[in-house]
Amino acid sequence: MTTFIPTRAAALARLAEFLPNAGSHYANERNSDLGPTQRDNVSLLSPAVRHRLITEDEIVRAVLGSHSFQAAEKFIQEVCWRTYWKGWLELRPKVWRDYQSQLEDLIGKISEGSGLDRPFRKRYQAAVDGHTGIACFDAWTQELRSTGYLHNHTRMWFASIWIFTLNLPWQLGADFFHRHLLDGDPASNTLSWRWVAGLQTQGKHYLARAENIQQYTAERWSPKGQLKEDASPLPADAIPAAGKLGELPLPNARKRTALWLHEDDLCAESWPAVDGLDVVAIAGDVSPASRSWLPVSDSVIAYSEAALADGLGRAGAHYRQPAQRVLTADRQRWLAEHGIEQVVTAHASVGPAAGALGLLTRDLRARGISLVQLRRAWDTAFWPHADRGFFQLREQIRPVLAGLRIS
Ligand SMILES: Cc1cc2nc3c(=O)[nH]c(=O)nc-3n(C[C@H](O)[C@H](O)[C@H](O)COP(=O)(O)OP(=O)(O)OC[C@H]3O[C@@H](n4cnc5c(N)ncnc54)[C@H](O)[C@@H]3O)c2cc1C
Repeated sequence: MTTFIPTRAAALARLAEFLPNAGSHYANERNSDLGPTQRDNVSLLSPAVRHRLITEDEIVRAVLGSHSFQAAEKFIQEVCWRTYWKGWLELRPKVWRDYQSQLEDLIGKISEGSGLDRPFRKRYQAAVDGHTGIACFDAWTQELRSTGYLHNHTRMWFASIWIFTLNLPWQLGADFFHRHLLDGDPASNTLSWRWVAGLQTQGKHYLARAENIQQYTAERWSPKGQLKEDASPLPADAIPAAGKLGELPLPNARKRTALWLHEDDLCAESWPAVDGLDVVAIAGDVSPASRSWLPVSDSVIAYSEAALADGLGRAGAHYRQPAQRVLTADRQRWLAEHGIEQVVTAHASVGPAAGALGLLTRDLRARGISLVQLRRAWDTAFWPHADRGFFQLREQIRPVLAGLRIS
């Protein structure tokens, strides 16, 4: 059974275990979903990467230590899909803001007494409860709720059935995933749902077909006659032009500095530009409940909080400083206790963690304390190539890896 342990040690162990399969085995077998007990064809690293208990950089380095680039190209490309989606949204934050406001509106509408037609509410409830009568879809709903994970191909089928067969708004489906996936990520999740719907690549959508499901699930499922296999893509709005990545200021080496961890990067030991700083304390907080206006699953909250505890423990040991979770109510006391003049944190990309950092920045500024965000070299090197389609970024993978000295 798929289990996810929210520690860096477990992520490194899983990476080591998966490495032999990251070459041709992955390239040939990755599309099959043989069920939660048979997952050796994929890495299962996504919850750990999403929280950066382990980084894309070290995954690709390890893979290239065991395989040639050609053999591991497919796996490296998939890691770079994550990077592409993150960069794409970073360059177009309006897409996230629009999604959030459409979602808030829709959540208002599915609440009782909203006046929205009853069949729509019933369809939504049946989908999230796993009572649609489409056996594979209902089983995947239960799997998502119980494990916090779905295979990539299954996520595609699920999203397609949600949008085109059940005729439900993609935004509510993306929200359902975001509330239940341990790897729930504002960029990968929102943009993948948009891609399935036909909003990312205009006129191109993803249609789940019974035959394809039967083939790639080793005939565990066969929803013949139950799926709408000839639907058109959703009508797409124009995509905003890509902005530019902003420069981030460097921290001041003369100030008493605290490191602040959040759910987008829990590996402070490898943050850039920290060596040479006067680090006097370490703290952090996560805000998984702010993924949605609706309840976020207990497993997502537990994973995120335990991952933070792991990140704080490691950072404390590495920098030999006290490390603790600090809630908003205790922040003033903590800042004063350590005489903190500057807070340094990892860059949070568009999404809930960036929202929480925005609030933290305002609070600190009011106390005369600066907050400095550090962007990892991986993101700085790759994200500018996310201004167009994935193909353009894919062409840059080798030169960018060479520039990062990853071979
Ligand atoms: C509708 C939909 C929603 C999704 N939501 C999320 C999400 O919220 N968070 C998330 O991390 N991924 C999301 N994905 C992408 C992908 O399904 C998962 O990253 C992958 O299934 C994770 O399993 P793994 O770690 O075993 O992947 P592997 O196949 O072992 O890939 C290795 C790593 O590459 C990255 N990756 C692989 N495939 C993709 C992809 N298609 N897009 C982006 N990154 C990828 C992940 O970080 C993954 O851990 C979504 C895909 C779809 C179709």
